[in-house]
Amino acid sequence: MQKLVVGNLKMNMESVSQRDTYCKEFKEEFKDLKTDHVVALCPPNIYLEHFCKEFTHTPVIMGAQDCFWELYGSYTGNTSPKTIQSLGAEMVIVGHSERRKYNHETNEDIAQKVAISLRVGIMPIICVGYLDTEDEMESVRAQVNIIVDNFTTDDMENLVFAYEPMWAIGSGKTPTTDEIHTMIMLIRSIVSARHGKDVAENVAILYGGSVVAENVTEVCTNAYADGVLIGRASLSPSNFARIVRMLG
Ligand code: PEP
Repeated sequence: MQKLVVGNLKMNMESVSQRDTYCKEFKEEFKDLKTDHVVALCPPNIYLEHFCKEFTHTPVIMGAQDCFWELYGSYTGNTSPKTIQSLGAEMVIVGHSERRKYNHETNEDIAQKVAISLRVGIMPIICVGYLDTEDEMESVRAQVNIIVDNFTTDDMENLVFAYEPMWAIGSGKTPTTDEIHTMIMLIRSIVSARHGKDVAENVAILYGGSVVAENVTEVCTNAYADGVLIGRASLSPSNFARIVRMLG
């Protein structure tokens, strides 16, 4: 089954020369890699235009790491989803736990970002999980509820959820496959209650948090994730390619 494999490069490419080295190595690693899976890269927003141009004639999809909830106006420092779309990017990560934590983004902010992304035709990857101080089930329920309550059944086909427990991000630790599966089923049950079983079965739900080549098969096969959101391991094109290869 086709999986979505998304690399979140975060704020890890501090210089243009690092960016260029990454693009070169990535192309080298992926040039002979035949895969039916969908591979996407989310570089720092400031490099998005460059990545979109570099990867134009490749199957690799580009995404942004965040967007603002308005299309234009006096919002210094923010990125319009329209700009992201016009560069050729096809997706955007919203509600990453690092943005919830450091930028104090609320579920309402994130719902607005989802709305505007869908309006301009880019696919939001909506991260849900929990901060250390919160109850996991309650947090995820609230984060998913606001989406299912405010968006249509058709919208559900154009968005993706990513379950990412914050403690697993960058820590080298992952929940058990049963725990991941339980959370994926929780998300599906919330979608189902509002939009029906068929929609819930089809909505894409990724897992993110310390995914590496050694655990990606387990995550996608035993925990039934529709793909993965990868931070640290995507910073090395060869590790990223190994992950894609593991999925067959
Ligand atoms: C992330 O930042 O979304 C992430 C999953 O990071 P890592 O793979 O490093 O845990």
